[in-house]
Amino acid sequence: MLHKPLMASATGDVEEAGAAAGKLSGGLRAAVRAIVDYALPPRCPGCGIIVGEDRQFCLGCWSSLHFLDGPCCSRCSIPLPAALPGGPIACGACLANPPPFEGAPAAVAYGRVARTVALRLKYGRRTGHARLMARLMARQLAALGETGSMLLVPVPLHRWRLWSRGFNQAALVADELARLTGAARDHHLLLRVKATASLRGKARRERERIVAGAFALAPDASARAAGRHLVLVDDVHASGATLRAAARALGRSGAARVSAISWARVVPDALMTGNIFDFASLDSDMTDQQMTG
Ligand SMILES: [Zn+2]
Ligand SMILES: [Zn+2]
Repeated sequence: MLHKPLMASATGDVEEAGAAAGKLSGGLRAAVRAIVDYALPPRCPGCGIIVGEDRQFCLGCWSSLHFLDGPCCSRCSIPLPAALPGGPIACGACLANPPPFEGAPAAVAYGRVARTVALRLKYGRRTGHARLMARLMARQLAALGETGSMLLVPVPLHRWRLWSRGFNQAALVADELARLTGAARDHHLLLRVKATASLRGKARRERERIVAGAFALAPDASARAAGRHLVLVDDVHASGATLRAAARALGRSGAARVSAISWARVVPDALMTGNIFDFASLDSDMTDQQMTG
């Protein structure tokens, strides 16, 4: 059910130094590169051990990633049993409460390595990790539709959080996805107008109450979004409460379609092991205890 695409690579602090080296030329560039490599040897983005090449997972971390390219819910991308007949099918949670986005694929299931990569980007300022995440998300983005006609919209931070962190990790991932796929991006279409409390451990209704009204469209959003395929970009898709609230706001823009994409999808353990008998009763919100968002 789970496949692994060709080995991809990651980037760390080396990248920024390497970019500076790239502006130089010839022998000087090689000399700077050698010094950088010596001072900052490439490290696995999952566990930090030194690896042979820049932007590469170690074998252990790579083999522990679970790529979500098997049968999934067509709406929220939670894995479904492989035995189901062909054609798009939604999970029980999405049938009962359809999300305001058409599809929401993720590159990988949320686990130790996916979590580490996301946290190092978010709190460790390993901004190069955004490129790694985007590389592994690009195929899923292409599966949503023609990337040339998409408008990528990162899930925004409230201005206080943006001010304290200095960057929006979702915007960095959207930038890299745009660069890789040719999709356009708009960081200012959607605004976070309410600073929200953590959703961790909250029941579904409480999460919905917390994020209600958290997002609003920019005053000129309709002119930019009308008729477009908008794709929300986020790092982690847990309960989906945040994505639902953001997509609901985007839906008022006159866009033709609203989808979402994320780096990692929180998936109940039982789904990863295939040990389930009644998938229709599964609700992705059961993972609330583990994650926010
Ligand atoms: Zn590793
Ligand atoms: Zn679903």
